[in-house]
Amino acid sequence: PVMNVYELFHDRFQRGADFLRTPDNEALYSYQDLHRISAQYANRFTELGLQKGDRVIVQTGKTPAFLFIYFACLRAGLIFLPLNTAYRHDELAYFAGNAEPSLIVCDPASETLFRDIVGSSTENQRCEILTLDINGEGSVIVDREATEFTPVDVNDDDVAVILYTSGTTGQPKGAMITHGNLAANGLALHEAWGWQDGDVMLHALPVFHIHGLFVATHLPVLNASPIIFLNSFDPTEVTRLLPHATVYMGVPTNYVRLLNHGGLSPEVCGKMRLFTSGSAPLLTQTFEAFTAATGHEIVERYGMTETGMNTSNPLQGKRKPGTVGPVLPGVEARVVDGEGRELPDGETGGLEVRGANVFRGYWRMPEKTAEEFTPDGYFRTGDQARRDADGYISIVGRSKDMIITGGLNVYPKEIESVIDKLPGVVESAVIGLPHPDFGEAVTAVVVREAEASISEAEIITALKNKLANFKVAKQVYFVGELPRNTMGKVQKNILRDTYAG
Ligand code: AMP
Repeated sequence: PVMNVYELFHDRFQRGADFLRTPDNEALYSYQDLHRISAQYANRFTELGLQKGDRVIVQTGKTPAFLFIYFACLRAGLIFLPLNTAYRHDELAYFAGNAEPSLIVCDPASETLFRDIVGSSTENQRCEILTLDINGEGSVIVDREATEFTPVDVNDDDVAVILYTSGTTGQPKGAMITHGNLAANGLALHEAWGWQDGDVMLHALPVFHIHGLFVATHLPVLNASPIIFLNSFDPTEVTRLLPHATVYMGVPTNYVRLLNHGGLSPEVCGKMRLFTSGSAPLLTQTFEAFTAATGHEIVERYGMTETGMNTSNPLQGKRKPGTVGPVLPGVEARVVDGEGRELPDGETGGLEVRGANVFRGYWRMPEKTAEEFTPDGYFRTGDQARRDADGYISIVGRSKDMIITGGLNVYPKEIESVIDKLPGVVESAVIGLPHPDFGEAVTAVVVREAEASISEAEIITALKNKLANFKVAKQVYFVGELPRNTMGKVQKNILRDTYAG
């Protein structure tokens, strides 16, 4: 089928008024502006000679123009490739070399850097570099009169976006996400989360990642709803704006920080209808503390760059903390053992998913792509999971996180859950460190509450009381906080590097 996902968005948003609102909840851009300005950018890029399938790297701050450029790329059939602003020279050189963009839009501060990267690679000679600063100013100037643009014909399986996976090991892989993937997942979530008239999105996530770009932007756009657009997450700002919003989406650390901030109450959340969490596991204690503070149960969902969202706790029906809910409509999931045989409910194994939400493969890595798909078309997520009798899925850990000690498999999550429940513990991360006898030694890195004095010996004793001996941490380290990336994921690779040897 020929369907540019922009046409779906346009069909849905054209009845809307405000697209973006300022941090003071004032109108900033309308949906008409979105249509007009994205046409201006699409015209500009086409005039530069860019054609369907060409890649556009965008590395700028979170500014409205970033979104206009995103929608312009969809319209023009260009492949949008957003990059985390935290990336430095070597990472950027890898992405530019791998993606071979025809256009790079970057902050003026990184222009020289990108010119240097592009200049040193002959393949990339035909790459334009334009600048865009946080205020929307720069050399990416458009013709204000060029407000018409007919969406380029694309197929459902034409690539709309390439997102490099945050991969903690090996080289980042560019996940090719199609127009069809975006449409399918957007519509499924719009339905599942009951988007309705009057909804207002409070947006405090980064926009270079699926969570902020797809989930937190597509859904309000599909609903023609206003987005209160914050530059970054700040608990004071979010708390101040909650009374004006109905939907908020966060990563677990956002919720922890909102709770610590102390400004939450049922009154502040008076208009709120939906809080969602994802990108990393939400602790049961955070779920419970949030319910106690606000009267709202956070809806935890699970997804990844390669698949979009796969599961969600339900809007109606029981939300089970510690689970990511049942699969979304249109998504199939199964839990398999090491040989790929499907396991019964209650058993832990590798999670595989299939559906219109699942990406097309890794950019220019056909072997890697082939490895990650089963012959019957399921994608191997790399997550270890378990399904209960009601169909709710729990994510137990990443396969690559799995510790093999004395030949036995240990899932860090199981040990972390025990440690996290101990009095005086805020949270923990369990890793495997090289060990001459065991192969890997189970090691716990623990954050204690301010005044708490729980010791290594006490933690080890508590583990011995609860778990098989091979799962008990051989060593416990205490830290002030766990290293996390921008999406709130604990960076276990950093912990492994710190404590190895
Ligand atoms: P990314 O592609 O950066 O979005 O990372 C996807 C990975 O984040 C998944 O494969 C999971 O390991 C993890 N993840 C996302 N949502 C959840 C969740 N609700 N609970 C546990 N892990 C999650």
